[in-house]
Amino acid sequence: MRSHRLTTYLALILFIASFSATSFAQRPATQSSAIPAPKSVLGFTPGDDRTIAGWSQITDYFERLDRASDRVLVQTLGQSTLKRPMIVAFISARENILALPKYKEMQQLLADPRKVTNDLQRDRLFANGKTVVAISCSIHSTEIVASQMSMQLAYELATAQDAETREILQNTILLLIPSPNPDGIDIVANWYRKTLGTPYEGREPPELYHHYAGHDDNRDWFMLNLKETQLITRLLWHDWFPQIVYDVHQQGSNGSRFFIPPFYDPPNPNISPVLLRQVGLIGHKVAADLQAAGFKGVLTNALYDTWWHGGFRTAPYFHNSIGILSEAASARLMTPSTVTGEQLARSSTRGMRNATEAMTNFPDPWPAGEWRPRDIMNMEMIASRSILEMASKFRGEYLRNFYELGRKNLEQPPNKGDTLAYLIPAGQARDEAVAKLIGSLIDQGVEVFRLDHELHVVLRPQILQRTNPAAEKLGTYKIGGSLSAMQEVPAGSYIVFLTQPQRYNVVALFEPQIYPNRLTPLGEAERPYDVAGWTLPLQMGVDAPAVITIRETASERKLTLLKDANEVRADLALALKKGDESPIKNPLKQPVRVGIYKGSMGNMDEGWTRFVFDTFNVPYTSIRDADMRQGRLNSKFDAVIFASQAATQIINGNAAGTVPAEYTGGISEAGVKNLKEFVNNGGMLVCFDNACDMAIKEFNLPLRNTLEGVRSSEFYCPGSIVALDVDNKNPIGALLPESLPAYFINSSAFTAAADANVRVIARYAKENVLLSGWLLGEDKLRGQIALAEVGVGKGRIVLFGFRPQHRGQSWATLPLIWNALSGATAGSSE
Ligand SMILES: [Zn+2]
Repeated sequence: MRSHRLTTYLALILFIASFSATSFAQRPATQSSAIPAPKSVLGFTPGDDRTIAGWSQITDYFERLDRASDRVLVQTLGQSTLKRPMIVAFISARENILALPKYKEMQQLLADPRKVTNDLQRDRLFANGKTVVAISCSIHSTEIVASQMSMQLAYELATAQDAETREILQNTILLLIPSPNPDGIDIVANWYRKTLGTPYEGREPPELYHHYAGHDDNRDWFMLNLKETQLITRLLWHDWFPQIVYDVHQQGSNGSRFFIPPFYDPPNPNISPVLLRQVGLIGHKVAADLQAAGFKGVLTNALYDTWWHGGFRTAPYFHNSIGILSEAASARLMTPSTVTGEQLARSSTRGMRNATEAMTNFPDPWPAGEWRPRDIMNMEMIASRSILEMASKFRGEYLRNFYELGRKNLEQPPNKGDTLAYLIPAGQARDEAVAKLIGSLIDQGVEVFRLDHELHVVLRPQILQRTNPAAEKLGTYKIGGSLSAMQEVPAGSYIVFLTQPQRYNVVALFEPQIYPNRLTPLGEAERPYDVAGWTLPLQMGVDAPAVITIRETASERKLTLLKDANEVRADLALALKKGDESPIKNPLKQPVRVGIYKGSMGNMDEGWTRFVFDTFNVPYTSIRDADMRQGRLNSKFDAVIFASQAATQIINGNAAGTVPAEYTGGISEAGVKNLKEFVNNGGMLVCFDNACDMAIKEFNLPLRNTLEGVRSSEFYCPGSIVALDVDNKNPIGALLPESLPAYFINSSAFTAAADANVRVIARYAKENVLLSGWLLGEDKLRGQIALAEVGVGKGRIVLFGFRPQHRGQSWATLPLIWNALSGATAGSSE
């Protein structure tokens, strides 16, 4: 008993030491009158028209709340990309806050039933545990209201004395994240203040609101490229395992006032139906509470689906938790807007004919008029409250369901021939990609083992085959091919078993996605909410076959569970990761002066390009429109890269009148002329995906994008992995396999004029083009040019039809970029 107490005491001390805010153990019980209201600190109530709190104001308020309230404890998680503090506020009853280490340990037991020794212990966890709820605000920084709302929500929970709130506080522990993207809060707040009272008030800033990812900061939850995603993943899926995660967003201005689940089709087949039902139950509770409070325009079962894996609200499903999304209609940042009936009538989406027509999933359309930040905030406050109420009232049920899902995932697959594990064989010659893949898996809590002794296995093929090869346009596929014979897997390989609490995270990351063939009544493709395919080993060019038989019994296997990514790096003799620095060695063969076009509007593909270059420690300079117009590019650069962007955006930039004058105009005709001079004088121009269009037209290249203007009934491929045939005798394809997966997202495919001086480095495969996702009209892609090089004057232009660096995920095709740049100082290749 004594030693148990001592351990608990030590854990408590360590836990307290990990918090940057004041120690809570000595605090007296506080009176709510001593707790500062947001207004007394900020000078305005959050949500007031034309007010905005920046990140230092938000963190300052939470620090004060931490000091003043025994229901609130603030923890600093680490630093954002641009070095702002990332914080989480724990909010619960005083006695729970005092016992946080105990509850954290209970959550970790519930998350992994193997750690629960007997039924008695299990039942005690159900009886005494708290529902842990995470609420995350404004990951998308222009969807700003929730970040402001977070202060008001925290204040009300810290001060309320009514029986209902006390019950919530007793039964739940709230992890309130005022924003998982603090840099963006300041980018938006500074911009908003700068433009307040000008003609540009309420417009969005003309830059990415995350240094690298912009809006794609919510596309990173399985890859974990960004520091923000890494820190929050550690908080949620290593430490606290919330049963419910609520991700608070805003949508466009002219549709429904508020979206809340149930979601739209298609569901991801790897999400437990129990979770989907629980998501629906909470969503309907929120919708009913909003309706009861007099709010109109609440929409369910529309637009947003659960297919894709990488969002804040989808990651929980793969950790056996409930993910809730809400999308309030936006005002104009913190400025009220007026929406007309005509605008509402024009707003239609999957599951909603238009925003004026009552439907079962949209029973009470909003009648148009003025729409204020306060409306958004009130709806988000009610939604947060509803979710906490559910978490409190059904506490035992949530804990039991969470535990049971984890327990079922530990059962052996029932049938002979079922997948048992995925293998990452040693000796792939892609060591950095293998290390990154395994590091990302470990960081999200997936168990990966190293083979200390060889194993003997039978592998299952992982090839998508058309279910009806005669029907060219139908995108219907299955996994097929023939089984391997029993084979030996060498020591030093890695294995990921399905029998782990996160079983379906593993499955959904390793298996090819087969997106259902969904068409509108007119035969056009129905756009998925995000991408259709993402299979991680494929995107990264890592061989990771499924294992269906293992000869060695469990006791005969010699395996080591990996604890962190550096163990893999050490195994592979790679430089170890220290602190924030990327340990990857610059892959360029000699120094190359690289310029990456930045432009004056936020372009996520440009941001991800910088991310990849920084990760691989390849130096570059960002090129602004003014630099492009000024010219003399050869004196500064050997190679200039354009990330995917439409030609009109590159050349014309932001239109006059939409942003202050200094942000208008693109590279303009002067920039085009300077680019031509650059290439003619021996420079290398590299274009990704849409940017190829600019090069083809402006340089009059003998290539044509065969997919331009093609209807989605004829061809559609929205974010999928496709196969390339690579000419690895060309220096740009050097050392790559002849068949390479590439990321295609409504991308390009070229044909070249006969006798044209075009060197083809890669074509889309002649057959079996789709590797994961959705591809309608495969014939349009088969054998077309995917990557080509054209000589122009003394220089050359390299055209990537696809996205070789998509979201920092498609590592399979990164070597093509490095190979191309390595040749940039050679001048003319002829
Ligand atoms: Zn959003």
